[in-house]
Amino acid sequence: MTLSHAEFQAIANKLKPRGQAYINGKFCDAVDGEKFETVNPATGQVLTSVAYCKSADVDKAVAAARRVFNAGTWSRAEPEHRKDVLLKIAALVREHSNELAVLESLDTGKSITDCLHEVGTEVPNFFQWYAELADKTFGKIAPTGPDALALITKEPAGIAGAVLPWNFPLVMAAWKIAPALAVGCSAVIKPAEQTPLTTIRLAELMQEAGVPEGVINIVPGFGETAGKAIGMHNDIDTVSFTGSTEVGRMFMRYSGDSNLKGVGLEMGGKSPFIVLEDAAINDDLIEHAAMSAFWNGGQNCSANMRQLIAAPLVEEFTGRIIDRVKAFQLGDPLDPATDIGSMITKDHKTMVMDYIQAGMDEGAEKLTGGGSDLPGYFIEPTVFQNVTPDMKIAREEIFGPVLGIMPVKTTEEALAVASDTDYGLHATVFTKDIDRAIHMARSLPCGTVSVNGFSEGDIKTPFGGYKQSGSLARDNGTEALEQYLQTKTIWIQTSAA
Ligand code: NAD
Repeated sequence: MTLSHAEFQAIANKLKPRGQAYINGKFCDAVDGEKFETVNPATGQVLTSVAYCKSADVDKAVAAARRVFNAGTWSRAEPEHRKDVLLKIAALVREHSNELAVLESLDTGKSITDCLHEVGTEVPNFFQWYAELADKTFGKIAPTGPDALALITKEPAGIAGAVLPWNFPLVMAAWKIAPALAVGCSAVIKPAEQTPLTTIRLAELMQEAGVPEGVINIVPGFGETAGKAIGMHNDIDTVSFTGSTEVGRMFMRYSGDSNLKGVGLEMGGKSPFIVLEDAAINDDLIEHAAMSAFWNGGQNCSANMRQLIAAPLVEEFTGRIIDRVKAFQLGDPLDPATDIGSMITKDHKTMVMDYIQAGMDEGAEKLTGGGSDLPGYFIEPTVFQNVTPDMKIAREEIFGPVLGIMPVKTTEEALAVASDTDYGLHATVFTKDIDRAIHMARSLPCGTVSVNGFSEGDIKTPFGGYKQSGSLARDNGTEALEQYLQTKTIWIQTSAA
């Protein structure tokens, strides 16, 4: 049963978040002792100070990860052992879900309801799902003549680096850590500088679950120092990055300028929500439209912020979405009645407000939303109409609660406008016509197409982007394992007995 606002507040009052790095099985300060502060964006209050890791700390973490990888304690352990430990992590996360959700809410400013779902349900499910794959991932045997046996085997890639964003801190950590550890890699993880606390707490739970020292290392810090040090490290074999397209590009360069490590990229988006003329504008569609845009305050890579609506339906759609959007409750993130919390930082709020101003300057009509008077960095869900495809708010990822409604006359126009972007992460299509649904799903150049409902899929389905939203790598599903594996051919010459 969900706790009350007062009960969540009581948990928050008791929390003493740890801000240390976790390297070689020990919690420690940064090598140079420097720290930075992490702040609750809903109140501006400092939560704690955190180890400011830089390249010396990353070197230390990679050395520990390499030592244990070469020793084989984890990398060559029985898969059943890795499975057991990952299942224990899942159980511990479930056991501590209220506390982890409160910590996540304090560090991100997002609603406790969302945090409970992410941390209490999704994160343990990720660990459980990859735990169960650990002893069910097989190699192949190639067809050969009678004088050879050709085995196609999978081996852990070695040391996996991961550099994470702030919008779903613990979910993103689990997306990378669970598959990497399931296949036997050791990992060096850098949480976003805005939101390091739940990943550090996860390290405590992983230690308790029996992950051997050196297998998981957490190096909190900033992008230009710890993030770059991971990207450029000559002894990291593969790096998985989630964040902006701008920084994703850097990881490709880091790889080229260092040891040509594997690079998996999950990046930004400007995803369309398409309503074709045969769709019914009902409560279900409106709920999906509203949540696709404003879930997590729009700070979501797959947020459907361009809503392309068949011209005859625009008036009805607009009226109903405005009513729904006005019902969203902004407020104290620890209150279970709150739907939308704070933006992540003051700077981020300023950037989003600049986009709202740009929309008005370019002639789009703001129907609702804008800044909020609440303390902290809140923004009211904002809806524009008369948005045209050339406008800044239609082209750039805002990563805040700013939705643009764009009328379209035909299915082909919807397809053309939806595809006219450098991004390709996600799209939603509403239509009753199965042929149109399949045509749109096949034609839209993006990693996930969701039909008659907004969804990113789940743990079983791969998630990632086409075009500048991603590399060919995918998170989630069995596909995620590929980011952390190498393929080896073993060709055995045989002779008749
Ligand atoms: P960001 O790119 O600014 O930061 C992401 C991470 O990269 C952080 O840990 C940061 O410290 C690090 N970083 C920053 N500069 C770096 C540098 N020069 N070298 C190395 N590392 C560096 O992104 P953000 O603002 O944290 O997150 C928002 C972005 O993440 C949005 O673009 C969003 O669409 C994207 N995102 C994508 C997915 C997905 O699965 N596709 C999921 C969540 C978020």
